[in-house]
Amino acid sequence: MSTKRIRSLMIHILMAVAILTACAPAATEAPVEATEPPQVATEAPATTEEPVAATEAPAEITDTELNVLCTPQEQWCQGMKQEFEAKYGITVNYVRMSSGEALARVQAEKDNPQFDIWWGGPIDSFVAAKGEGLLEAYDSPNYANLTDPVKMKDVDNQWVGVYVGTLGFATNTDWLAANPGVDAPTSWDDLLKPEFTGQVMVAHPSSSGTSYTALATVLQIRGEEAGWEYLQQYDAQMAQYTKSGAAPAKFVGQGEAAVAIVFSHDIVNEIENNKLPLVLTFPEEGTGYEIGGMAILKGAKHPQAARLWFDWALTPEAQALGPVYAAYQAPTVTGVELSHPELLEVNLIDYDFIWAGEHKTEFVDKFTNEIAGADNLKE
Ligand code: PLP
Repeated sequence: MSTKRIRSLMIHILMAVAILTACAPAATEAPVEATEPPQVATEAPATTEEPVAATEAPAEITDTELNVLCTPQEQWCQGMKQEFEAKYGITVNYVRMSSGEALARVQAEKDNPQFDIWWGGPIDSFVAAKGEGLLEAYDSPNYANLTDPVKMKDVDNQWVGVYVGTLGFATNTDWLAANPGVDAPTSWDDLLKPEFTGQVMVAHPSSSGTSYTALATVLQIRGEEAGWEYLQQYDAQMAQYTKSGAAPAKFVGQGEAAVAIVFSHDIVNEIENNKLPLVLTFPEEGTGYEIGGMAILKGAKHPQAARLWFDWALTPEAQALGPVYAAYQAPTVTGVELSHPELLEVNLIDYDFIWAGEHKTEFVDKFTNEIAGADNLKE
């Protein structure tokens, strides 16, 4: 799909969402008291009359707990845990891990999975996991809610998208004030300018899905040969690599470097909620974006509860919870108001998720072995 088509697709999504939300408020339903487990059925969304989210939940659910591998930020993981527990009376145990760590954990636990469901983090890791036979197919009735089922769902129902986020640059405004004549970067080339040498921060692609999205974006914009050359130069600009994808925005906001490469919704969070002195810009020649994924793990020990979470996470009601917990990604289902539509109104590349996922191990190994090792990552 061309960049134009992606933009037009996004515009259509925005228009559809605008129409739907004009009819129904996006207010989050207050969590209800824990219902008696486990005779549960997923409720229709409280946020809109359209699309239907009726779930054919099993008549009787005997699972009383659910182990979630949670990749988004801690606050959202904690919030989703509490909302699910309050709604369904099923205990949620979660561990928050960056995408690369999560994939490594799922690979290591292949024969005895400790997690039932993996929620969040760029889809590339889910594509990689599917390729290794680590995911369980599930045909959710709530796929009907997806704005773009072709793009947002695996053809074999092994993963689905639960949010969308675009990559941006965060520049410290105090640093800009102290460096007159220097502008915040508005292209990938700008990051290579001498004034930014030693002043750029990004996570390491071995641990972070955010950073892998940046790496795969550069390779897709420039082609592999020129892309790897660029990544060599980009490495020379780095102050330090971090473990978690969102962390560079915080460190740059605290003055540890000038520019961070981070998902734009994380930058919004640092500006709006943590009041850090940052300005958000986007690369004009195009930026990459993520579809945040979800999948049930093969061999999950609580499959009923996992399917219940899966269905719930695809309702407008659950996706409208993001901004309540400072998560400003765009939803993947209709009937949810976008908290920050402007984050999608940028020049998006035709990011190839399948290609990026299928090459993830190879590209991360190449980066780690030939450009920058993953020892001493900043926490
Ligand atoms: N936190 C947020 C808010 C995200 O949007 C994402 C991406 O999906 C992640 C974390 C993923 O984290 P990491 O880049 O550390 O893998």
